[in-house]
Amino acid sequence: MAVPQPLAPGSTIGILGGGQLGRMTALAAARLGYRCIVYAPEAHAIGGDVAAGHVRAPFEDTDALAHFAGQVDVITYEFENVPEATVEACLRHRPVRPGVKPIHIAQHRLREKAFFASVGLETAAYRAIASEADIAAATALPGILKTCTEGYDGKGQVRVADRAALAAGWDKLGRRDCILEALVDFACETSAIVARGLDGQTRCFPTGINVHRDGILRTTTVPSTLPPDLQATVERYGVELAHGLDLVGLVALEMFVTRDGHVLANEMAPRPHNSGHWTIDACATSQFEQLVRAVCGLPLGPVEVLAPSRMENLIGDEADGWLGYLADPTARLHLYGKAEARPGRKMGHVTFLPA
Ligand code: AMP
Repeated sequence: MAVPQPLAPGSTIGILGGGQLGRMTALAAARLGYRCIVYAPEAHAIGGDVAAGHVRAPFEDTDALAHFAGQVDVITYEFENVPEATVEACLRHRPVRPGVKPIHIAQHRLREKAFFASVGLETAAYRAIASEADIAAATALPGILKTCTEGYDGKGQVRVADRAALAAGWDKLGRRDCILEALVDFACETSAIVARGLDGQTRCFPTGINVHRDGILRTTTVPSTLPPDLQATVERYGVELAHGLDLVGLVALEMFVTRDGHVLANEMAPRPHNSGHWTIDACATSQFEQLVRAVCGLPLGPVEVLAPSRMENLIGDEADGWLGYLADPTARLHLYGKAEARPGRKMGHVTFLPA
């Protein structure tokens, strides 16, 4: 089979989704001489602010998608809840990397868990909860009840101590299809971000330690303090996943490391990930540039850590402290240009490097 030619600088990348991940991808693409066009339904897309164009149309509008595809050479997505039909519509016109399979799996937590098992990744014990009978038979308690679809940043989840709480929690989540996961007593959380190129080569970014609060990532500290054997398992999990998905692009796998030394896969995202934002300031290649390289069929970049770093998210009104970060010689400030600082909204991040 002929090896596809790389897309040369000057080519145009289409990005489905208009948020900060697309924005930072477009900035990295511009540095390498590529143009990006963002497709997003919202009137103000922060990704579109830094791109060559913004096609504003619903994800269901196949005519607009065809027109968008006609303006670009390759298409990627910056969030995993893009409808599958949207990606399929784009695929009729242009390659979409990383493709339909990763979002098909990532959009449904039960599918995701089954897929993890199929590629040899251990997970927490879990049960499907879709009826009162499931609640009566539930194991995996105490646990966390999560909606199978559309949950992110801790939304669509409730902690449940026993069956009564499970019944109440399922009601609270609208009696939707859910998954009950056993509560993991973890020593720490980590994530592997793996790029896979057109030739099937993979590269895993050095991993860090992630701290979440209320289901939202607060900090990522690099390098990781895990012992080398656990570190190797974490990276192997990421690489197995990338091969299993057969993707071209990036995949992030969030994991728990338990107190008794097990690595458990929690959730994946086939796109750049918040826990990889440190790479912009402290890695030889940023995760955004790596995505550009992968989807354009370029060689993947080196991934060594240039400096130990700590990334902190700026959530809601925390971004109001921007002047202080600018005055701090150890801080690298990134603001996403969002108009309104709602509680829980990611407004920017800061990467702290040694002075
Ligand atoms: P998720 O939306 O699945 O990534 O969950 C968000 C965060 O909630 C995770 O990063 C953990 O901090 C916490 N969490 C989720 N699932 C579990 C679990 N089964 N056990 C313990 N903590 C969890």
